[in-house]
Amino acid sequence: MSDYFTEMGWTPLGDGEAPNHLIQMARFLRDFGMWDLIGQDTELPPPASKNAVANLPEIKIESGEVKQCPVCLKEFETDSKAKSMPCNHVFHQECIVPWLEKTNSCPLCRYELPTDDEDYEMYRKEKKRAIEREKDLESLHNSMFT
Ligand SMILES: [Zn+2]
Ligand SMILES: [Zn+2]
Repeated sequence: MSDYFTEMGWTPLGDGEAPNHLIQMARFLRDFGMWDLIGQDTELPPPASKNAVANLPEIKIESGEVKQCPVCLKEFETDSKAKSMPCNHVFHQECIVPWLEKTNSCPLCRYELPTDDEDYEMYRKEKKRAIEREKDLESLHNSMFT
C-alpha cells in the first residue's frame, strides 16, 4: 500500500496537519479516472443516505494492525475507532463522512451505499434489471444452442 502511494507521489500528512479534503478528493478523482466525468454530462452519483452513513459499523483498530486511512494517508492509531464500509474498506470517520456527503460510493472500490435520491435509486434498479435481463437472454441462448 505504502509503495503505491509513494509511487504516486503522495505523502502522508505530518502531525498536526489537517487533511485537505478537496485536494485528497481531487487526487482520487484523478487517479481513479473519475476526473474526466466532471464537467461532462455524466453526473457523480448523489450523496449516500444519511441513515446508511450513520449505520456504518465502527470498528476498533487492534494493536499490531497497521492500516492506513486511504483518504488522509495517516496510519490508524491503536485502539482508535474507524468506520468500516460494507466493502471492508476502513476510513477515519472525519475522512469518509464528508466524502459520502458528496457521493455514495467507496472512494477505493466504488461500492455504492444506498442514497436518499429516489430518481437515482430507480435508475440503479433499472440498471440492475437490465443486467439480469441480459443474463436471462444469455442462459436462454445457451439452453437453446447447447
Ligand atoms: Zn483519514
Ligand atoms: Zn471499498
